[in-house]
Amino acid sequence: MKHLFFPDDYQPNIYHYDAEYLKSLGKKALLCDIDNTLVTYDDPDPTPDLLQWLLSLKEAGIVVGFISNNSAERVDRFNASLQYFAAADAHKPLTRELRHFIVETGCKKEEIAHVGDQIFTDVWMAHAGGVTALLVPPIRDKTTFFFRAKRLLEKPILALYLKKRSQEK
Ligand SMILES: [Mg+2]
Repeated sequence: MKHLFFPDDYQPNIYHYDAEYLKSLGKKALLCDIDNTLVTYDDPDPTPDLLQWLLSLKEAGIVVGFISNNSAERVDRFNASLQYFAAADAHKPLTRELRHFIVETGCKKEEIAHVGDQIFTDVWMAHAGGVTALLVPPIRDKTTFFFRAKRLLEKPILALYLKKRSQEK
């Protein structure tokens, strides 16, 4: 059985998940967390490299969308030049916006991957919603107590996952 908190794949950054790689996993759609997955909390807009990656996925026929726990103001600004599917205040790990994406695009669950930087929101939501959970390390973490505590809880899970992965190779 799948471990609820183990990602299906873990790569050092978002750019490893290019169209070719996603297609090799059988994916036609990629849902992305924004903060610390695609850009830092301090970047209101996609960086040039990120924009290129987002456009290249679309050109290759991958449906791209954003599901964020951040505000509509943040998400709308980030998505302004792209106009992709975008959901703010998603309350991940709740799967409401994932189901919304499925209805809106007609993609099947097995064709969808979600990529994020947090186990207890992103990975959890993906598994709860029945889609593939891709994980990347956070670009740059907030240093608040709440965030440090969350990362501390993630650490042993990630270590177990990486150990299991190395044994499978
Ligand atoms: Mg995040």
